[in-house]
Amino acid sequence: MQIAVSGGKGGTGKSTVAVNLAIALRGYFDLALADLDVEAPNDHILLGVELQNEEPVNMFMPRFNYSKCIKCRKCAEVCEENAIITMKDGTPFLMPTLCSGCRACEIVCPVTGAILEGQKLIGHTYITETPYEFSLVTGKLLEGEERAMPIVTAAKRRARSLNKELLLVDTAAGTSNTVSKALEDSKLLIAVTEPTPLGLHDLALILELARLMNIEAWVVINRSDLGEKEGIEKIAQKYNAEIVAEIPYSEAIIRSYVKGEPIVLADSKEAEIFKDLAEKIANYMG
Ligand code: SF4
Ligand code: SF4
Repeated sequence: MQIAVSGGKGGTGKSTVAVNLAIALRGYFDLALADLDVEAPNDHILLGVELQNEEPVNMFMPRFNYSKCIKCRKCAEVCEENAIITMKDGTPFLMPTLCSGCRACEIVCPVTGAILEGQKLIGHTYITETPYEFSLVTGKLLEGEERAMPIVTAAKRRARSLNKELLLVDTAAGTSNTVSKALEDSKLLIAVTEPTPLGLHDLALILELARLMNIEAWVVINRSDLGEKEGIEKIAQKYNAEIVAEIPYSEAIIRSYVKGEPIVLADSKEAEIFKDLAEKIANYMG
């Protein structure tokens, strides 16, 4: 079973919700948490742990074997990223930063062995044991790299290999294709938002994505006392998404964030919000 925590934009408290929910849900499920916000993973920081068990993620990149290449230019013509340029005589050259690793050039090349397998390191995945009885799987893109999809795919594959009863996925912000990939196979989406114009706009987008992917969606309003909630209620109603929790602005949450001590472990009203939500999720997931 898989549940995703997502949010329209960065800074809505998505990771805070994911981390605290993971701790609150451990009493109901044998679970793993996957941080698939690969450009800026921060669940390990919120949990106060160092990333462990690093594995590289490499991407295919063509290497030309000029002793076999017949300079037909087919590889350059098929490359949608314009990553291959050819000299006047047809000799191909790769612009590595543009290559997406799609292998189209390798497929169309008419000469066996003219394009060889090359690899480029683009990031890592990690499996970190937390002190909270669950493993954290993290995908992390190397700084300066843009191709996030292979990292999301590799981290998700690694998380699934743990064979846990429940996989809780923390996606990137927004509605990009890497968010769709992270959401894939989820039974439930927890959409975290806040009562601001941008929060409303982005909530509509993520709920629309959930609708298109046929995923049940619930809404958590973070910093719920900082603005008008009517707009959120209208959007939630439009998408038939229940508002399941409201988290008021809380300095205790900010302090817990700074200390790396999840608020759900404290004796506080904020902890009760996460525990109630975990119970509701456990009932829904059966
Ligand atoms: S792998 Fe794809 S993107 Fe890279 S050079 Fe070949 S065709 Fe272009
Ligand atoms: S498709 Fe193959 S043979 Fe043709 S130019 Fe490219 S590498 Fe050379």
